[in-house]
Amino acid sequence: MLRTAIGLSLPLVPKFIVGRVASRYVAGDGMDDAVRAARDLEAAGFRSTLALLGEEVDQREHAVSATSEYVELIERLAREDPPRADSVGVSIKLTLLGLKVDGALCRENLEQVLSSAASHETFVRIDMEDHTCTDDTLELYSEMLEHYPHMGIVLQAYMRRTLSDIRALPEGANVRLCKGIYIEPRGVAYKDYDTVRAAFVDALELLFMRGAIVGIATHDEYLVSQADGLIKRYDLGPERYEFQTLLGVDEQLRDVLRDSGHPLRVYVPYGKEWYEYSIRRLRENPQIAIYVLKALLGRSG
Ligand SMILES: Cc1cc2nc3c(=O)[nH]c(=O)nc-3n(C[C@H](O)[C@H](O)[C@H](O)COP(=O)(O)OP(=O)(O)OC[C@H]3O[C@@H](n4cnc5c(N)ncnc54)[C@H](O)[C@@H]3O)c2cc1C
Repeated sequence: MLRTAIGLSLPLVPKFIVGRVASRYVAGDGMDDAVRAARDLEAAGFRSTLALLGEEVDQREHAVSATSEYVELIERLAREDPPRADSVGVSIKLTLLGLKVDGALCRENLEQVLSSAASHETFVRIDMEDHTCTDDTLELYSEMLEHYPHMGIVLQAYMRRTLSDIRALPEGANVRLCKGIYIEPRGVAYKDYDTVRAAFVDALELLFMRGAIVGIATHDEYLVSQADGLIKRYDLGPERYEFQTLLGVDEQLRDVLRDSGHPLRVYVPYGKEWYEYSIRRLRENPQIAIYVLKALLGRSG
């Protein structure tokens, strides 16, 4: 009920206040901010993946300029001293590259990013969006994987199809597993909190059993402890998994995981289109009232 009330009232929160709160979840407006965040995270013992904000573009020019920004970002990372291909990757939403405008354009844009990434050995992760994108995303991933092995996909535990999607993946696939963030119809996704948790554990175990390399993307301490148990049971080394968290979310948990020797990657969004992303983060956070209050009082929390 609290989440619904928060969700309904968020559009009423003035944009400048969302902006203050957003500074917690977003590295900044520009590429420099993202690269600086990656450098700081690396110094603190974390890997990172950088993501340009924006999705559902409806104009070709926008998709083309997002593609150029990714290529520039990859080149920029390669110029860093030392180059950061190992510790820093990029994450991409296909709708930002034009998936909903023109499938062929999106494929062309993705290939451009992947080919630049391949020449610098940068890892590219394709984010998963709502269920209307799942088939296209998985198809493009399989098609591109043949030519660009240094890439990964995301599967969402709340989707009823996820176990069968895992069975269809090639051996050794690199998969980020998350709960799933979009509001989906009940026919395609589990809605109940505990059912989603159980589905996450089942999916994670199946991924491990099938030899996947897994990004365990959650701040849910129950799932983290279940994952820890599975990692021990399957005797997995750090080359087989990493934990993943979002910038600004539960920094205590990420420190605990790092200190206990687990590899951990932080998802670092940046760019001018921070509003939608921040609203989604705030919807998930039951403590929003505190942040908003702090922002109103002039402290960004
Ligand atoms: C690295 C990463 C990549 C992701 N990529 C995708 C993707 O490609 N596609 C997709 O659909 N979803 C993606 N997600 C989002 C994911 O699906 C979940 O919606 C999100 O992570 C919340 O689920 P949770 O597992 O953390 O559990 P929850 O039960 O939502 O949260 C667990 C705990 O974390 C706290 N928490 C959660 N969010 C916040 C917040 N904003 N601020 C403070 N505390 C918070 C909660 O209060 C709770 O205590 C990604 C998540 C991560 C971490």
